[in-house]
Amino acid sequence: MKASRRAVVVGAGFGGLALAIRLQARGVRTTLLEKRDKPGGRAYVYEDQGFVFDAGPTVITDPSAIEELFTLAGRRMADYVEMLPVAPFYRLCWEDGSHFDYANDQEALDRQIHARNPDDVAGYRRFLAYSKAVFEEGYLKLGSVPFLSFRDMIQAGPQLARLQAWRSVYGIVARFIQDEQLRQAFSFHSLLVGGNPFATSSIYTLIHALERRWGVWFPRGGTGALVRALVQLFEDIGGRIELNAPVARIETGGARVSGVRLEDGRLFPADAVASNADVVHTYASLLGQHPRGAAQAGALRRKRFSNSLFVLYFGLDRRHDGLRHHTVCFGPRYRELIQDIFGGANLAEDFSLYLHAPCVTDPSLAPPGCGSHYVLAPVPHLGHAPIDWRAEGPRYRDRIFDYLERRYLPGLRSQLVTSRIFTPLDFRDELNAHLGSAFSLEPILTQSAWFRPHNRDAVLANLYLVGAGTHPGAGVPGVIGSAKATAGLMLEEALS
Ligand SMILES: Cc1cc2nc3c(=O)[nH]c(=O)nc-3n(C[C@H](O)[C@H](O)[C@H](O)COP(=O)(O)OP(=O)(O)OC[C@H]3O[C@@H](n4cnc5c(N)ncnc54)[C@H](O)[C@@H]3O)c2cc1C
Repeated sequence: MKASRRAVVVGAGFGGLALAIRLQARGVRTTLLEKRDKPGGRAYVYEDQGFVFDAGPTVITDPSAIEELFTLAGRRMADYVEMLPVAPFYRLCWEDGSHFDYANDQEALDRQIHARNPDDVAGYRRFLAYSKAVFEEGYLKLGSVPFLSFRDMIQAGPQLARLQAWRSVYGIVARFIQDEQLRQAFSFHSLLVGGNPFATSSIYTLIHALERRWGVWFPRGGTGALVRALVQLFEDIGGRIELNAPVARIETGGARVSGVRLEDGRLFPADAVASNADVVHTYASLLGQHPRGAAQAGALRRKRFSNSLFVLYFGLDRRHDGLRHHTVCFGPRYRELIQDIFGGANLAEDFSLYLHAPCVTDPSLAPPGCGSHYVLAPVPHLGHAPIDWRAEGPRYRDRIFDYLERRYLPGLRSQLVTSRIFTPLDFRDELNAHLGSAFSLEPILTQSAWFRPHNRDAVLANLYLVGAGTHPGAGVPGVIGSAKATAGLMLEEALS
């Protein structure tokens, strides 16, 4: 590899950061260009009156994939960020008042499952064995391998068939477990990466085994502290990051790219460019001037996109001691609500929520005695539910506050110090996300692996993709895996 090689990465989400570190660590002069005023992408941070709100990812799994970035740069992760274990992983609550603490403790799990349905104790063990087998195949073997040819897909075919990958997540869970609430408890995970448990391939049950194997973690100082650690690492090894640097176009010459141009006109020449921005935005806007851009954007627009999210950040003047760090609040409907979220034209009357209470693990995220929170509701994307969120947002916020006050946070309204919302319109306008999708392309089997946009463009030889829209897909471990796949290709090809 020639030391003078230069690369540009567009977008400083986890995928863009991980890729930039990998390239810089191998001696490629790498520039990371981020549109917003802070790095992190979906893992942005809001701060107000001493409250710190992580905007997005809060369940950090597979810390070894993150640690690998420090190791290959010759550093120690522990010198940059401290990872704290979270226990239980989640508390799952239902409207009948019952709850289930999902923890990495087999005996506690067995006891809780037995109390609901004794037969499901053995069923859960069979489910766990299944999910471990998928994890070995789908994550350890294929999670950071680029699927560039259909042959790669055919080679993976027998294993996918053996693991019944055509079944849905819920379909597989229901084969092992009878109790409906336990079925929900072990199938909701695909929602964390934008997958409908009733439509997404059962390969996504691997998330369960991944959490059981490596645990659930939270960085001291919040996910934002982890983002800052990665930026620091990148800069310490000589990388350059520019914030407030929206890219307007990727420059091309024939079947190659030659660099990127910012909205302010500045040009960054490069031997290879990787985009961590939304895949439709990349092709439709950044490559709009090239026939490849228009063609690929058209093809991508015909695909199915993941749901969006409504996120409500709020600070309270006290701590609610009964709360766990992560709570999933199931509403009255499961299958029907998910159908509404993934295909409905309107906002459902009910909701299922995820409630984040990080001060349980790290009280420093709020002023003394206070609590930072966020609550999110999965909602339809703007393609099939073109809701006017400017009008609906404040109403939806009030409905969620009422619900939380009634069931989870008594006195919430009178304790409120600050709040803000992030709606599908913000996903679209702030993050350039197609249809305001929170997780890019929906992770169904026919949009996974080789069927997902490839880590290298098929026409423009030195253009690459990294992040949720490419293989393997959304979620922090997913996009960090995509960075490994993309870096491998870039270092072998355009930057060799
Ligand atoms: C609310 C929420 C909660 C989540 N919770 C979890 C969780 O607990 N655990 C988990 O593993 N995953 C979680 N996820 C999913 C996970 O956060 C994402 O899949 C992942 O962070 C996406 O990373 P990415 O690399 O694809 O980039 P993104 O985070 O999408 O970043 C892309 C970046 O590109 C920038 N950009 C776009 N256009 C341009 C342009 N023209 N020029 C320059 N820059 C541009 C954007 O500003 C952005 O910073 C959550 C997601 C959300 C939204």
